[in-house]
Amino acid sequence: MNFHVLTLFPEMILQGLATSITGRAMDKGLISVNTVNIRDFSEDRHNHVDDTPYGGGAGMVMQAEPIFKAYGYLANHIKMTNESNDSYKKPRVIYVTPQGSVFNQGIAEEFSEEEELIFLCGHYEGIDERVLEMIVTDHISIGDYVLTGGELPAMVMIDAISRLIPGVLNNEVSSEFESLQDNLLEYPQYTRPEIFMGKRVPEVLLSGHHANIEAWRREQSILRTYERRPDLLEKADLSENEREYLTRLIFQKNYDVY
Ligand code: SAM
Repeated sequence: MNFHVLTLFPEMILQGLATSITGRAMDKGLISVNTVNIRDFSEDRHNHVDDTPYGGGAGMVMQAEPIFKAYGYLANHIKMTNESNDSYKKPRVIYVTPQGSVFNQGIAEEFSEEEELIFLCGHYEGIDERVLEMIVTDHISIGDYVLTGGELPAMVMIDAISRLIPGVLNNEVSSEFESLQDNLLEYPQYTRPEIFMGKRVPEVLLSGHHANIEAWRREQSILRTYERRPDLLEKADLSENEREYLTRLIFQKNYDVY
């Protein structure tokens, strides 16, 4: 999977992703991260890429032209490197913006199916709408708050997508059941020692009885989701027994109130 990032701060992206699991994935050639510095496409003699907003108002707006040229250069580069690839299609261009759909595991899974992805990072008050209309295919946010720039959101998304690519995680199984898959949060995890400051690891996890362990984990997932993210449960795929268990939890909670 090849990630491309249109940004004013390429070093932030490259340094941030070059460590740990994403760094190793790059070393192994499982992912690549390529940045294009939008400033290199400024025609301004001071290399400016922003200007004041038409109609007035605070802050500066990133101009359309340097972004359009940076995108053109990148699109051409990607096309050329895919020349022999018959299944080549124009890559999706994701504008990271607080105005987009909120990124989640489902979107990460969808993006992980692509071979090339382009991220466009804004700064200041944002980007001239005209270039967004011309090149952007997806508007994606990482949450309902406003950051100073799009580099952290792009890194968040690249990280979440990368770990879904086969071989990126050492142990394939470790992304098999995780929080938010199937709209449930992951069960609690424990490791050695068996007793830590008087607190014991739940007995069932030491039993070696796989079916009981699975059943306990599933119950804990439902309980945890109910306590922390009840909004997810509406879409969770629960068996009849599990729905009954959930009903008991809800009843118990209402009973505890009185
Ligand atoms: N004035 C813009 C608005 O109200 O939508 C916000 C601009 S923000 C200060 C600068 C840039 O940071 C945006 O263009 C976007 O690329 C990025 N950004 C800020 N918050 C974000 C979020 N929650 N998710 C994704 N990108 C974000």
